[in-house]
Amino acid sequence: MMRFLRYLRGSGRVLGFVFVASVIWLLLDMAVLRLSIGDANSRLVNERTVREQEIAQQQVLDSSDLKPVRLFRTQKRKERMAGQDKNNLQPEPVALRRSVERERREPEETASNASVQASKPQQDMPEKLPVQATHKSPVKKEKQIKELQTQGTNNGSLVKEKQIEKLPIQGANNVSLVKKEKQMKEVHNQGTNNASLVKKEKQNEKLPIQGAHNVSSVKKGKKIGGMVGNNSIIVHMNDTLAVKAGVHRVLSLDLTAAPRNPNAVGQFGQAAVVPRDKEVLSKQRWNEGYFNVYLSDQIPLDRAIPDTRPDTCARNVVHNDLPSTSVIFCFVDEVWSTLLRSVHSVLNRSPPHLLKEIILVDDFSKKAYLKGNLDKYMAKFPKVRIVRLEERQGLIRARMAGAAIAKGDVLTFLDSHVECNVGWLEPLLERIYLDRRKVPCPVIEVINDHDMSYKLVDNFQRGIFKWPLVFGWNTLSDEYVKKKNMTVADPIRCPVMAGGLFSIDRKYFYELGAYDPGLEVWGGENMEISFKIWMCGGTIEIIPCSRVGHIFRGKNPYNFPQDRQKTVQRNFARVAEVWLDEYKELFYGHGYQHLLENQHDIGNLTEQIQLRDRLKCKSFKWYLDKVYPELEAPLVKANGLVFNRGSRNCLSVRNRVLSFEKCDLSKQSQHLNYTWLDHICQRDLCLEPNVIQGSLSFQPCDRTRPVLRWLHKTSKSPLSEHLISAKSSQQVCLEASQKADKIHLAPCVASNPFQQWEFTNYYSV
Ligand code: UDP
Ligand code: MN
Repeated sequence: MMRFLRYLRGSGRVLGFVFVASVIWLLLDMAVLRLSIGDANSRLVNERTVREQEIAQQQVLDSSDLKPVRLFRTQKRKERMAGQDKNNLQPEPVALRRSVERERREPEETASNASVQASKPQQDMPEKLPVQATHKSPVKKEKQIKELQTQGTNNGSLVKEKQIEKLPIQGANNVSLVKKEKQMKEVHNQGTNNASLVKKEKQNEKLPIQGAHNVSSVKKGKKIGGMVGNNSIIVHMNDTLAVKAGVHRVLSLDLTAAPRNPNAVGQFGQAAVVPRDKEVLSKQRWNEGYFNVYLSDQIPLDRAIPDTRPDTCARNVVHNDLPSTSVIFCFVDEVWSTLLRSVHSVLNRSPPHLLKEIILVDDFSKKAYLKGNLDKYMAKFPKVRIVRLEERQGLIRARMAGAAIAKGDVLTFLDSHVECNVGWLEPLLERIYLDRRKVPCPVIEVINDHDMSYKLVDNFQRGIFKWPLVFGWNTLSDEYVKKKNMTVADPIRCPVMAGGLFSIDRKYFYELGAYDPGLEVWGGENMEISFKIWMCGGTIEIIPCSRVGHIFRGKNPYNFPQDRQKTVQRNFARVAEVWLDEYKELFYGHGYQHLLENQHDIGNLTEQIQLRDRLKCKSFKWYLDKVYPELEAPLVKANGLVFNRGSRNCLSVRNRVLSFEKCDLSKQSQHLNYTWLDHICQRDLCLEPNVIQGSLSFQPCDRTRPVLRWLHKTSKSPLSEHLISAKSSQQVCLEASQKADKIHLAPCVASNPFQQWEFTNYYSV
């Protein structure tokens, strides 16, 4: 003891003190480091959750700021194709719902901060966030996140660095990462068309540029168009170790069975040209798919396409334990090369451990090559399963047939003429991982139907609809994007989805009652599932980091077992009846009144209505208020007092009897509605003309009786101020007597002021 104390004299004492202090400091530091690493993850989670909530909330709360910049760009095209006049009251029912000529733009060059996608499953979004939260700057947040990521490593302590090296192995999450990598390697080894990943990685290390088969020559996150030469890509498995526990960088896989030929037709998504001597042939083959089938057949089935993701996407991280997916392609008489290119784009660009299977549902195609040849071809790919329907079911029931046998955690529906881009899958699955009620859709890019080039589309686009349920695209305005600090990579909430391409948690899909099986062939199912998702507690998003090209076609290249227009209209009517509540009048009022007459059979809706009750879904009014407040949806066309120009008095209804009174807004008896069904009504009583007697009465409203309809303010008609009985053989109008004591029907005379009427408020004309 004495000996020991002797050491603590003089300079020994100082040295001893320093020694003890540094040991304590070291121990403390180690403890802090552990904490900070553990904490970093949970803070990441919180940061991310708050950020998502902010954006989501901002989009909802302030959506009144949204200015539809480019509504329905293709309306003209649609009208032209349908050969219809604007004034025609029966619009073609969304014939080309996805064939929207979407604006092309140059690749986005903004390299903003990477948004970190590490977080736990998100809680239900609160109805309203605390106000302060919505004002926090996401940029600042991203900075904070970056700081968090680097915390602990900057302090220069060797001990700490060692600890960090160890942590990934100790941590349970990281074990799973290692396992995952192993799994992935195994899957690749089993893999159908590709050599071992391990081999590839090794090759990759050695031969970064020469690249034999399947070897990457491209660094992560770089655009590939025109740069890849004959190599395909394999990506940054190594990077995963550098990222936080439980997450890894998005895998931008792009595997090929053989080296790519940079000179191949359409390689890198470039426009292909039909040689002179093939022009006739190319024209002849157009009708096989209503796109350039000749060129499609020339293009490699695994061609490269430009990585059109915003720059930050390749740096995003996703969870290691994402759910797996079954990819479901339904097709009827699809062109061979486009179907195969669709399948290969999924096989080659999806992480194998996440791709449970690909299900091809043949909706009773007639083309011979889609039978034996397809079976034979797909036999090489163990993940591909083919289901053949024994009679034509239509897209909706075909999808359900695919879903019924799917084994993946998630269902991913794709059209059979698409090309999935690199890194397309994980960002979709990540959203579902965060919240199983999110329904993510990739950005749908354009594969040009004439030259098969792959084109990226505008940023910030969302799916919307206009009356009568016409799907379209709408760009978030610059002001809105700026105000919300949105980056090009942030998910965009969509009032409705385009329909063809989306992922959904399999169990959730069934909880929602899947699709209405009463929908036939094609059309309306995107509206049905969209309303159902939103109103029953889910969310639809477009994920800018997930991109899939789709051939937009001018026509459906398959037949409709029944009349096409009738089929689609019937589908829409089913959707309107189940989901639109009182707003269904807006649907019918925009050109579909005829569906209410003649007992149009739209089939039994009992199950669908019961489902909505059972799920306790919210009202359509809620949907309009919270999800799509920009939509103009006045419940009536006009209301208030009904003023007669000639007599300068107003209509009044007492005990079902119509009379004239001095106009007085305070009298409820003078308040009438002019509805979307063209009824003039007070509560549930409607004005009915007796054309033979020239008299009028008030009768219970009945939407199936055309006689209750009155035309008013029909565009630019000389009788636009008149109230014309819609169903009389000669035109008869509502007329006030000169003394303003009677109302009767009389042949319409444009200049007669006693036949001219005006409501106090107009909402639509
Ligand atoms: N489809 C189907 N059965 C049908 C109609 C369509 O399986 O009765 C398939 C079709 O082959 C395509 C997908 O459903 O893969 C979507 O159809 P389409 O591409 O015609 O729709 P659009 O993209 O024009 O909306
Ligand atoms: Mn399609």
